[in-house]
Amino acid sequence: MSHRSSEQTIALFSKYVVPNYRRYPVCLVKGEGSYVWDAEGKRYLDLFPGWGCNMLGYTPKKVIEAVQKQVAELIHVPNTWYIEKQGELAEALCTRSFGMAFFCNSGAEANEGAIKLARLHTPAGKYKIITFLDGFHGRTFGAVSATAQPKYHEGIGPMLPGFTYAPRNDLNAVRELIDDETAAIMIEPVQGEGGVNIPAPGFLEGLRQLCDEFGLLLIFDEVQTCNGRTGNWFGYQTFGVQPDIITLAKGVASGVACGAIICKEEIAPSLRPGMHASTFGGNPIAMAAGLATIQMIEEDDLLAHSRKMSERFRQHFTKLKAELPLIRELRICNMMIGMELAITATPAVGKCMEKGLLINATHDTVVRLLPALNITPEQVDEGCDILGGVLREMAAG
Ligand SMILES: *Cc1c(COP(=O)(O)O)cnc(C)c1O
Repeated sequence: MSHRSSEQTIALFSKYVVPNYRRYPVCLVKGEGSYVWDAEGKRYLDLFPGWGCNMLGYTPKKVIEAVQKQVAELIHVPNTWYIEKQGELAEALCTRSFGMAFFCNSGAEANEGAIKLARLHTPAGKYKIITFLDGFHGRTFGAVSATAQPKYHEGIGPMLPGFTYAPRNDLNAVRELIDDETAAIMIEPVQGEGGVNIPAPGFLEGLRQLCDEFGLLLIFDEVQTCNGRTGNWFGYQTFGVQPDIITLAKGVASGVACGAIICKEEIAPSLRPGMHASTFGGNPIAMAAGLATIQMIEEDDLLAHSRKMSERFRQHFTKLKAELPLIRELRICNMMIGMELAITATPAVGKCMEKGLLINATHDTVVRLLPALNITPEQVDEGCDILGGVLREMAAG
């Protein structure tokens, strides 16, 4: 297929698309596995495919087939009907976790639903939710109010009332924030956007204990940690702490828009008819993609594979860190990889891109990777070589 040049597409954007994103001056037009090509035919190895949504790379065969088949059969049915694939994906997710599922289209929407569910389920008068500094929960008003980062609140206030913010890894600070109006604690098992922050040992367990002691719901925002990202199906399993509600999106359907809430069975009826809904939520295409994603992870043994690839990244980066004092800290939770630098990480993104490698920089100083679960050993080596070269250059000034 022929494409416009990147420049031509950029011209359309400058005239017709709201300029709310900072974009790289490149138009990506096709992919295969962890590789992606721009309109000019340049190939990139992508260690951050789809912002973590493309869990199985750009062209997972089973997902493509499942979506093609579903599109030809039935594109959309609203939730006034029973939807076969929705039941099947709910079963597939809940039998790998717990409880019952509600479907929506994005991470922010899943968190909105979880916030409503927490307020509905707890006794009248309880509405406050404790969240954590440097967390990220999305851009809708509830989700952005839950996001304890002032830069995302600037100029759009007032925020939704009822959120209080605690520092990470400080159980006493959390305890002090709990009062008679507190309904829930919400946290990402591993903070993604905030810089790949892995919780201190015992912290998530401590939150569970506080929730039990005060009758609060524990909500894990697993939008980024779900579906194998942390080496198990869900992040809570990696840390061995059982939440009451988890929210999912990003990788759930391999890049097809899909979000979900999973909650304990006894909580589920609190989201009673009329209180929450989503027109597109649970639609057959997203459900078919989600089902095929789970099947592919299972059939190709990608949880185990990703753990091996994570170890390979760790070996490369441990060597690199020993060589370069520029690298302050490695934070690796399976296929969530953060490298804290002594300097701003942003220039690394452009330098890597020139050399055909896509990565992300977040929270100013953190190089962040969210590789596909099915990345190959050769691709891990290739990516680490390029990134290592770029960081050596940066260290030399
Ligand atoms: C990306 C992200 C969100 C927001 O998801 P959207 O689909 O962009 O609304 C929420 N929580 C976490 C942890 C995320 O990483």
